[in-house]
Order: sequence, then structure tokens, then C-alpha cells
Amino acid sequence: MIAIIGAGPIGSYAAYLLVKQGLKVQVYEKNKQIGLPVQCTGIVSSAFSKVISPDKSYVINKISKTRIYAPNNKHVSLNLKPNLIIDRTKFDRFLTKKAKQAGAEFYLNSKFIEYNGKHAIIEQNNTTKKISPDILIGADGPNSQVNKTCIKNKPMFFVGAQARVYLENDNAVEFYPGVGDFAWVVPETNKIARIGLVTRKNANLKEFLSKRVGKNYKSKVIDYQGGLIPLYNQKNKTAHNNVYLVGDAAGMVKATTAGGIIQGLIGAKALTESIIENKDYEKLWRKKLHKDLKTSLIIRKMLDQFSDKDYNDLIRLFNKKSFKKVLQENDRDNALSLIINLGLASLKHPSAFKFAKFIRFG
Ligand SMILES: Cc1cc2nc3c(=O)[nH]c(=O)nc-3n(C[C@H](O)[C@H](O)[C@H](O)COP(=O)(O)OP(=O)(O)OC[C@H]3O[C@@H](n4cnc5c(N)ncnc54)[C@H](O)[C@@H]3O)c2cc1C
Repeated sequence: MIAIIGAGPIGSYAAYLLVKQGLKVQVYEKNKQIGLPVQCTGIVSSAFSKVISPDKSYVINKISKTRIYAPNNKHVSLNLKPNLIIDRTKFDRFLTKKAKQAGAEFYLNSKFIEYNGKHAIIEQNNTTKKISPDILIGADGPNSQVNKTCIKNKPMFFVGAQARVYLENDNAVEFYPGVGDFAWVVPETNKIARIGLVTRKNANLKEFLSKRVGKNYKSKVIDYQGGLIPLYNQKNKTAHNNVYLVGDAAGMVKATTAGGIIQGLIGAKALTESIIENKDYEKLWRKKLHKDLKTSLIIRKMLDQFSDKDYNDLIRLFNKKSFKKVLQENDRDNALSLIINLGLASLKHPSAFKFAKFIRFG
């Protein structure tokens, strides 16, 4: 039996893939309901549909325009390959339903406590249950208890905070790379937007809401959401004996945009392949994801050194035709190809070379 800890999107998707291969799968989720509380903006690039076929039951918006703002409020407008906005509660439940229909067993209100290599302890209500899985999968998110008790990486985090607010909008995503680590406005409908930021310091969402929505923003807030986002670290282990980590628990998140849904789904596919075909999981998922996760980290370290003036200069540069073309044609989930093409576009604009000094590979 395979025990998966966590019925987030990645745990449920892994359960679906594994059970379809004829394996017995049990999923243990500490919350009483799937998909709540929401701790996500739910924007995914066009790369999503290359991983799984999107379903209209959870896709609530499609967006083909973005504006990236500099601290001086100048911006670059770009057309995008359609990005999808997903309802995370519906998406998580969609994947759980698929896994259940395929034969996976789900146990809610069931919190994983520890594993000694033979038995895992699960706390259900006020009782404890002992299970003896052949394989244990930690899909239990950024603060993974499976990691803490079995693998023992020491992850670093961003803090993400967002509010859903009433805001008339033109269905364009806005990015503010100079606010916190970065901030965003993601339209849910033309009257409601998800506005948030991530930072490694104290998130000051209220200041951003006040700036973007207005001083009376409080009367427009529907609800607040937030959570931790792990920073990718190639040195962290994601497998030990019969224990595996996947999704946020494994740090499969881009340091540029904090996106982890597509990466986690790809990780779940790699995990299934490694279990079924007896392949090295670490090697397999890193082959698919490491280049782009590492490039995202290099870009993040570069942006960490930027002053407001550097961001202003960057946005001015991005308005040049050759840069706009690269930004519009390259998906942000293919960070390596994006950065290589931006590098090539720089050859036509020597002023871009000032940014080379910020590159750190370590
Ligand atoms: C504010 C914010 C905005 C974000 N926006 C985006 C975005 O727009 N696009 C994007 O791609 N990504 C985004 N992310 C990241 C995205 O939410 C994650 O990458 C994604 O949820 C990872 O899925 P997961 O299944 O690995 O983990 P999770 O979604 O965290 O699911 C883990 C599950 O494990 C359960 N669990 C935890 N501990 C235990 C335990 N001990 N026992 C049993 N169950 C347990 C949890 O209750 C949870 O249900 C955002 C994150 C934040 C915080």
C-alpha cells in the first residue's frame, strides 16, 4: 500500500496516477474538507495544458494581457498566450474526485505525525491510528511533516498574502516586481481581483492594497488568504529509502513567480514513473524541472539586488520591440529559454549589459 500525506492538488494527482497503475493508494489529509482554506492565486501559464487537460469545472477565467509595472509607475504591456485562472477549491476537489473514482481511498481529518520506516502514526479526531505503508509520499505542502520527520531538509520560505477584492478591471494581469519580492493583481472576473504579494520579510499587503485599490480598500475586501511558499534548493533531498517528497513539500516552486502547481503536477508524473518503472526519482524529476527552477532562482537572486532605478531601467528596456517579442513568445514556465532569448535580444541594446553584473550562479 502507498500512503500519500496531503490531499492538495499534487497529492490527489499522484494518487490518481498511481491507482490507475493498479497500486493500492490511501491519502491522508489533515483538514476536514478538500481545497479549503485557499492559499493560492490560481494563475497558471499556457504550459498547464501541456501537463493536464484543463476542465471547465474549475477554470474561471482566461487572460491574454499583462502589464508589468516599474516603481515609477511606467509599465510594459504584453500579450500573453492565454493564462488560466483556476478556482483552487474546485481544482483540488476535481483531482480528488478523479482519484477516488479510479479507486484511491481518502481519509480526511487525518493528520500525519511521524514514520519510523515501518509504521506511520496518523491522528484522527482524538485517536491515533497506525498504518504500515510500503511507500510513504509527502505531498503535505511547504511545511511538510513528512520532510521534518523523515528527510529533514531545512527549507526557506517566502510569505504570500493576498486579498480578494471588488475591483473593476480590464482582464489584464498586473505584476509589480519592485513591491515586496513581487506583487500582483489577477482578475477573477471583470469586477473581482486577487491582489497579493510575496516577500521574505514582513508582507505589507495593506500598503499595496491602499495604493492599488484606494484608501477605502477595506470596504472592498471579500476575504484574505495567505501561506508559505518554499524557495527551491537543489541541495535538498526528496527521496530516502521508501519515502518521497513531491510538490511544495519537495520545494518544486519557481522563485520568480511562486508558481508551483504546474511544477508539482510534473513532479507527480515523475514520481509515478519512478515507482512503476523502478527509476531514480531524484534524477527523473530534476531532469524535467531543475533547469527552469534553477534559472528562476538565478533571476530571483538578480532581482534581489535591484534598486528602484534598476527596475525603472528594466521596464524601459522591456518596451523595446525585440524584448517585447521575447517576453510575449516565451512562456514564463520555461525560464531558461526565456533568459537565453532575453540575453540574445540584449545584443541589440548595449544598455542591457548593466544587468549582467547582477548575475550570481552560486
Ligand atoms: C499566496 C499564494 C499564492 C500562490 N499563487 C500561485 C499561483 O497563482 N500559481 C501557482 O502555480 N502556484 C501558486 N502558489 C503555490 C501553490 O499554491 C502551491 O505550489 C501548490 O498549492 C502546491 O500544491 P501541493 O499539493 O504540493 O501542496 P498544498 O496545496 O499545500 O497541499 C498540501 C496538503 O497537505 C495537507 N497537509 C499538510 N500537513 C499535513 C499532515 N501533517 N497530515 C495530513 N495532511 C497534511 C494540507 O492540509 C494540504 O491540503 C501560491 C501560493 C501562495 C501561498
